[in-house]
Amino acid sequence: MKLLFWLLIAALVVAWYMRGKSLASHSGGRGRGAAGAQADRLGRPEEMLACARCQLHVPASEALFDLAGRPYCCEQHFRLGAGG
Ligand SMILES: [Zn+2]
Repeated sequence: MKLLFWLLIAALVVAWYMRGKSLASHSGGRGRGAAGAQADRLGRPEEMLACARCQLHVPASEALFDLAGRPYCCEQHFRLGAGG
């Protein structure tokens, strides 16, 4: 009877531990995923490119490139192209 009692306590402790662990990994993992990626993106020095249309400097990750590889600051200038 005593052994059964301790087995029950052990099972409860394990169940409680597993639940806490899975909850922590769930909420922490999801919350940190986006924030961590953003911090990584902000932390890295970004190459600045001049828009082929208006010469405005935009980060390489936000620039739009045409088939010739020219960067554009926005979709509007991308559609208008470098000429004009
Ligand atoms: Zn532009």
